[in-house]
Amino acid sequence: APSLKKGIIRLLPDTLISQIAAGEVVERPSAVVKELLENAVDAGATQIDIRLENGGIRRIAISDNGCGIPPEQLQLALTRHATSKITSLDDLENVATLGFRGEALASIASVADLTLQSRTAEQPHAWQIRGNDPSRILTPSSGTQGTRVEVNELYANTPARRKFLKSEQTEYGHCAEIVRRIALAQPGIRFTLTHNGKITAQYNANNLPQRCNQILGETFSQSQLPVDLTVGEGKDKLSLNGFIGLPTASRTRGDMQYFYVNGRFVRDRLLTHAVRAAYEDVLHGNRFPVYILYLTLDPSRVDVNVHPAKIEVRFRDSRAIHHFIYQSISRILAQTMEPGPDTEEQ
Ligand code: ADP
Ligand code: MG
Repeated sequence: APSLKKGIIRLLPDTLISQIAAGEVVERPSAVVKELLENAVDAGATQIDIRLENGGIRRIAISDNGCGIPPEQLQLALTRHATSKITSLDDLENVATLGFRGEALASIASVADLTLQSRTAEQPHAWQIRGNDPSRILTPSSGTQGTRVEVNELYANTPARRKFLKSEQTEYGHCAEIVRRIALAQPGIRFTLTHNGKITAQYNANNLPQRCNQILGETFSQSQLPVDLTVGEGKDKLSLNGFIGLPTASRTRGDMQYFYVNGRFVRDRLLTHAVRAAYEDVLHGNRFPVYILYLTLDPSRVDVNVHPAKIEVRFRDSRAIHHFIYQSISRILAQTMEPGPDTEEQ
């Protein structure tokens, strides 16, 4: 059996630390797209442009018209554990932004050739910095207010990882799904997605129902029930909004299930289970309900710092949350499915 040489503990070099950490955050192009889009959302952008080449493997370029980064902070933006979003444990427990760990840009820069370009309202022109330029020199460049991040040749310097990437079309599909997820949570932002020079998606509708129809399609829009419920007050307030599909809109896969907690897309067993259980009486076999639901609650009641990609969450009072969702949805379904037996075609 292989054995360790005794007593040699070494501190890893910084780049290797980053590359190891990057594995958790940046497992494929769509993870880069997610991190960059979240940054653009956090920056208050109203227009985000996503350009991909070869499924994002060759290039991901995302530009936004958000607040921008002052030139003297560009280098810090690429530094691990540097963030403008939280400063204390208290902030962490009440986090309102999508990001807060301060590691996305640093991680991406450690596994790809990253260029960050930004211009704030105060600057007469943009500045840019290149991640793997050891001197980290700022160069002036043209550009309107906002930020543009270009990520070239993902995993070119870590071939073992690059091998795990799937075909260009598969990687593109994952990226497009990330754009849909974020666009569904941000009807106030216009998104344009381009792949290999062709526009593949454009989300311009600026209200939630229209944005949902644009992304989830006609079938869903014709068989959806609105959800709009609130219980409690102040810190105890719980709201559930969105749309759920009638059983007739159900699918053979769980591919059209969107659940957001405080604006963040999550995959959570507790939430999925609560919805599923509410459908139990009206949905048979292995059909999957279609839904897009937004749960809003005081940030102190949910821990979003469970997983590096923040796709999982942990609730302080999970039973109450489960109950609220289950009750809300069962009631809406029960009201709609009445009067019962002879309305087969509902
Ligand atoms: P985090 O989002 O967790 O703070 P990141 O590594 O993603 O960490 O980004 C580091 C910092 O760079 C952010 O805190 C923010 O101040 C700045 N930043 C990154 N992207 C943008 C952007 N698109 N617009 C404005 N600022 C940005
Ligand atoms: Mg971020």
